[in-house]
Amino acid sequence: MKKILLLMSLLMTAATLQAVTFKYYPYELKLRHAFNLASMSRTTTPGVQVGITVDSVTGYGEASMPPYLGESVESVTAFLSKIDPERLSDPFAFEQINAYMDSIAPGNRAAKAAVDIALHDLTGKLMGQPWHRIYGLDASLAPCTSYTISIDTPEELAKKLAESEPYKIIKVKMGVPGDRELIETIRRHTDRPLCVDVNQGWSTPQEALENILWLEDKNVLFVEQPLAKGDMEGHAWLKERSPLPIIADEAVQTSADIPALARSYDGINIKLMKSGGLHEAYKMAVLARALGLKVMIGCMTETSCAVSAAAQLAPLANWVDLDGNLLIANDLFTGMQIIDGKVTLPDTPGIGITPRRQ
Ligand code: MG
Repeated sequence: MKKILLLMSLLMTAATLQAVTFKYYPYELKLRHAFNLASMSRTTTPGVQVGITVDSVTGYGEASMPPYLGESVESVTAFLSKIDPERLSDPFAFEQINAYMDSIAPGNRAAKAAVDIALHDLTGKLMGQPWHRIYGLDASLAPCTSYTISIDTPEELAKKLAESEPYKIIKVKMGVPGDRELIETIRRHTDRPLCVDVNQGWSTPQEALENILWLEDKNVLFVEQPLAKGDMEGHAWLKERSPLPIIADEAVQTSADIPALARSYDGINIKLMKSGGLHEAYKMAVLARALGLKVMIGCMTETSCAVSAAAQLAPLANWVDLDGNLLIANDLFTGMQIIDGKVTLPDTPGIGITPRRQ
């Protein structure tokens, strides 16, 4: 009986779909700490928020545009302005809507992610279920997140490490001047496991192996993107010799990239702003696992909106790096939480978020 009622209400929803309201506006994310790399430092990240309303139910989405992704508020809003809201009137039609967006322009993945996330939030709400349940995943299997500590003065580092105490895994950037000192300083304060992200910063496979051997006894879980993303042979050479797993980040965008990477890497880092949203990210996680690759779910600097969407896939991941919302001071939502270091998914329909203000 209950099932019949649910089916009826779903059919009624489908039959009575109202006109679609599609809204978007720029929203600058303010960072709690300046994000320092040797080459630059920044205190804000540009973002665009999206809302899609059907039948007075609103789904929220978000595009985040760190400078290295090559998207901006202008490029995202220009893309979104080309979308005909009527093409979103069946919000369950992810495949058709994604194909429609690809027909507008081939790139603009952050903008597409914003729409796709909003559609997932909306459809999850229409079904009355959070997406991890729709995927059939066990929320209790979501791993602990890593928390990024960037290069700073010894005093500031000590402060950041104290602040990072609730997180069980620390992520650091290497391939920049001062990286070994950063790791040595961290090791003087804590023996928590480390993830190392090189962002393509090592020049040769030999240099990478030498650094990885230095890291080997330092409780490091894996090394992300040690060499240039196009260096498949270098990564294959390194994978054969490295005692630590090698994870692709910049080298992988969508599922189409994955089969060719399996020989060169041990795993992939999936991010919604690279994949174009949750629909593609889920396919990537399933394909990677089928190929025997480890799965990592990452994020950009984002509000709880995009982070909570990505977190719906956390039970499929070996590791997650979902600290984007923890690093900003002006979050618009509450959603996925980190409790005892672990990604904790709320039982809230959609992507699991609640707006902090109307
Ligand atoms: Mg990375």
